[in-house]
Amino acid sequence: MSEHEHASSLSQMEARTRALETLLVERGLVDPHVLDKIVDYYEHEVGPHRGARVVATAWTDDAFREWLLRDATAAVASLGSTGRQGEHLVALECTPTLHHLVVCTLCSCYPWTVLGLPPVWYKSPAYRAKAVRDPRGALADAGVRLPADTAIQVWDSTAEIRYLVVPVRPAGTDGWSVEDLAALVTRDAMIGMGLVTFARQTAPTRQTPNEART
Ligand code: FE
Repeated sequence: MSEHEHASSLSQMEARTRALETLLVERGLVDPHVLDKIVDYYEHEVGPHRGARVVATAWTDDAFREWLLRDATAAVASLGSTGRQGEHLVALECTPTLHHLVVCTLCSCYPWTVLGLPPVWYKSPAYRAKAVRDPRGALADAGVRLPADTAIQVWDSTAEIRYLVVPVRPAGTDGWSVEDLAALVTRDAMIGMGLVTFARQTAPTRQTPNEART
């Protein structure tokens, strides 16, 4: 954040965060350079590409898929993703008849190690309320329409447990490499707020479709 921003331009939450950080730094409890490094790490090094690789590996390797569903923390760590907010990870496998949707009703708990930092909508009170009250409506708001006979299970993230949704593998992708499959898997699909699809005319060349990273 710019040091030249006027306090009046900050939201109440930003102002409180700024005040807390200032006090912690003044008292020597945290090093601002370390904070910057942590934010930079989760913004640039870690991101949905990590989760996408986990999903694509599960799609192509039955032994890994079983391990992921049994102990996601260990299975994900085997692919090199460990760290904060991912210590107790649970993978939820979607099927054509069961869809999983993840929310944190209390705040914004999120599996940082596999998805990076959470999107703004995930932290919004509107999403947190509607995902529980009307999950099908919350999905429709995002343009996701599930068949009427597909059940939706909502999972509430906590400080102890974070969830990674394993979406249904799109039809017509038999024989694809992990790399090509991973390019199809979006961040939102791994929260349960999207489905994995692909445009047939662009696949399976090396120029696989890839959602713009946000
Ligand atoms: Fe939370």
